[in-house]
Amino acid sequence: MQFKSTRDKNVAVTSAMAIKTGLSPDGGLFLPESIPYVDLNTIESLASMSYNERAKKILGLFLTDFTDAELTDCVNRAYNREKFETDEIAPVYKTVDGVYYLELWHGPTCAFKDMALQILPHLLSKSIKKTGETKEVVILVATSGDTGKAALEGFKDVDGTRIIVFYPAEGVSDIQKRQMITQEGNNVDVSAVVGNFDDAQSGVKKIFTDKEYSEMLARNGFMLSSANSINWGRLVPQIVYYFSAYANLLKNKEINLGDKINFVVPTGNFGNILAGYYAKEMGLPVNKLICASNENNVLTDFIDTGVYDRNRQFKTTISPSMDILISSNLERLLFIATNGDDVKVSAWMEELKNEGKYEVTDEVKKKIKETFVAGCCSDAETLAEIKNVEADNSYVMDTHTAVAKKVYEDYKKATGDETKTVIVSTASPFKFADSVLSAIKDEITSTNEFQMLAELSDAANAAIPKPLANLESKPVIFTTTCEKDEMYDVVSQMLNLA
Ligand SMILES: *Cc1c(COP(=O)(O)O)cnc(C)c1O
Repeated sequence: MQFKSTRDKNVAVTSAMAIKTGLSPDGGLFLPESIPYVDLNTIESLASMSYNERAKKILGLFLTDFTDAELTDCVNRAYNREKFETDEIAPVYKTVDGVYYLELWHGPTCAFKDMALQILPHLLSKSIKKTGETKEVVILVATSGDTGKAALEGFKDVDGTRIIVFYPAEGVSDIQKRQMITQEGNNVDVSAVVGNFDDAQSGVKKIFTDKEYSEMLARNGFMLSSANSINWGRLVPQIVYYFSAYANLLKNKEINLGDKINFVVPTGNFGNILAGYYAKEMGLPVNKLICASNENNVLTDFIDTGVYDRNRQFKTTISPSMDILISSNLERLLFIATNGDDVKVSAWMEELKNEGKYEVTDEVKKKIKETFVAGCCSDAETLAEIKNVEADNSYVMDTHTAVAKKVYEDYKKATGDETKTVIVSTASPFKFADSVLSAIKDEITSTNEFQMLAELSDAANAAIPKPLANLESKPVIFTTTCEKDEMYDVVSQMLNLA
């Protein structure tokens, strides 16, 4: 299987090359030349498999240049009991009211980014060897909070790699910040950037597309790569858990083979839900993919109207990992929905860059609406939903998951759709303890986020996840804050080039 670019369909590289370079030289995103088909018999066979076996099966369809032994090695290094709290890796929890939650937060950082970022470093490290690369790979990450820590955990001390994480000074929680600035490992660096996530992300993109800078790095034996959700190696492991969730429902006789189900996905960069779209296109019986946003509802408007318009006030919400106005992975959906029209996709992305806005054709609008439904909700609605679900089901969810649940309730009311539905749950409630506590308790007695973990543990009758429990006593290692135009200097300093 070869990989093309969303901005040049004549590009043809192996998956190892796509994973190694992250972004195509033309600025486009890599995607597979065709979508492999998985028939119902194969889906049925997944039901009796472990998560790792399911992962190998799905990954192997795309990463055809990896050997069976290589895939086994990657999968087993990523998904194991040392790193994940449960053998199931991505369990499906059914609440009393008959709603399913696909819990993607049992990994080392208690959020869904682990699902991809535990395996990406191993895929990348093998990709480097397979392509005969001798330079050291430097991973640059712009993070809205969860990605940073998950990438640091995934890459720490992986041979032949360095990792530098930039997080926005505004818009990550105290705990997210503490997780990053206490990171151990001899190949890691962390810096705050003045501004919001889009500032950090556009700064990283600028470094990536700077030819002169990358030539200088190459002369010094370094090459840049990305662990952001634009890397194909991030996206492909996410397809696995859609199949896995379906297989679990089959196994538990909640559905019959071939029954369609809905997924509701709390969405930011559009990576998670795009993986769901791939799963559907591969033959997984999916009815609707419901795209849930917070008040940064640029995707809700896009799916409703076909106009993508980022010219609006950026809002800092209680679901910060979805505080995003440019959803990078949408570009892949546009490429698929135009049947690979790289010229059109390039033009829209150019308009987005220059005017912050573009409108797709009626055909594309229609194609997207066949699968996607969108909705959004406010912080107040998010908190009310956490309280309702806790009261009715004794199930405590985090703010991102709650956005999805609220949008699902609105969807059900509006459409009467009774299709069995999986809410994709993207973070442990402990990761956003202050908001969650304020939803389920009238009065909070804690005075900092760390006390809140204990208070939430009492209120929710659940143990604090291990990676968060010992955070407060960890020493702070990284204290840098830089301006957006100082991000180059941070990179150069880390590589001893300054
Ligand atoms: C990253 C993240 C999201 C958004 O996922 P995308 O793939 O960017 O759409 C949602 N919830 C949490 C907790 C996240 O960390």
